[in-house]
Amino acid sequence: MSLEIRQAVKKYQSVHALDHAQLEIARGQIGALLGASGSGKTTLLHAIAGLVRLDSGTIRWNSATWQDGKTFVAPEKRKVGMVFQDFALFPHLTAQQNIEFGLRAHHWPRSKMTERVDELLALVHLKEYRTRFPHELSGGQKQRVAVARALAPAPSLLLMDESLSSLDASLRRALQDELRTLFHQLSITVVMVTHDPQEAMAMADYLVVMDKGQAVAHGSSSDLYHRPLNVAMAQLLGPCTLWEGHIAHYDDAYATVQANKLSFRLPLADPVSGNRVTLCLRPESISIPSNAKLNDHVVMPVDVISARFEHGRYLVQAQSPAGLTVFYSDHPPSDRTEVTFNPAQCAILPATP
Ligand code: ADP
Ligand code: MG
Repeated sequence: MSLEIRQAVKKYQSVHALDHAQLEIARGQIGALLGASGSGKTTLLHAIAGLVRLDSGTIRWNSATWQDGKTFVAPEKRKVGMVFQDFALFPHLTAQQNIEFGLRAHHWPRSKMTERVDELLALVHLKEYRTRFPHELSGGQKQRVAVARALAPAPSLLLMDESLSSLDASLRRALQDELRTLFHQLSITVVMVTHDPQEAMAMADYLVVMDKGQAVAHGSSSDLYHRPLNVAMAQLLGPCTLWEGHIAHYDDAYATVQANKLSFRLPLADPVSGNRVTLCLRPESISIPSNAKLNDHVVMPVDVISARFEHGRYLVQAQSPAGLTVFYSDHPPSDRTEVTFNPAQCAILPATP
């Protein structure tokens, strides 16, 4: 049971908004479409809602076909909820009336409507704000009303387009956690669009990276973070060490790599094509060694360039025999220190041209 999109194509004149995009999001999961502006995220979301008709491709939701070569199910028949970036609340309606609007459109009887609106106001912690108009609500409260309105008719699929991007950073973080918990509690399937990698990784169970109308990578936050497909994705998803190198030789399931002046062995199941590679390590995978030396780890000296305090620790940039190196330290590092890493945690990426 899932949302399944195959070979989605949508062209606007010469622009390939969607270029054979594919994705699958399991029922009850939060999926995020992550990509730069213009990569086709909104077009794909609108195609799921039925607001955009694909030139070709298929969209299936569980056992229903919403679009294929023969079928196109009208948006109102798909019963998806939608939350927009600008909230799109009606300014002349109160919080309660805005939520009711979502139900009226689905012809709910008056008696059941009041009960449902109460339930939703409680769900998004806005019971005391029911008679407020949008201009009397904060950004976060408006966003909660927009979410409640979309959830009101109990859709099984909720679509969110950059819905948190206009909120300030601390509020955004709090709402990310709150909404993630709420969506899981409701077991609702969510497709959210964002250009913010931190938001995608924090909220989603499953990430789809979009680039030029294509879904170029799929996976859990942790998979894509530690095993990005290329340098661009590695940089998109957070701080990283990237060393240019080449593979000196293979033996058994190991490769010996040479990164600048550093040579080390790492496990490698399948040989990579070409000799030149880029090695990628996340800062969590490199540390200042404690006294206990670990056999399979590489230890090397580094010259510290900068140390930036963030989230309770230092993000350190340093020069190592392998190249520029980025790692975390609990303490301000001295100018010259040693770091250690487990080569098995290096991702091998195609060399940058
Ligand atoms: P994103 O949401 O990732 O920023 P969009 O899906 O909005 O990207 O747009 C993808 C590409 O398609 C962009 O180049 C955009 O200019 C183009 N595009 C989107 N909608 C239209 C439209 N209605 N008419 C013409 N071009 C469009
Ligand atoms: Mg968009």
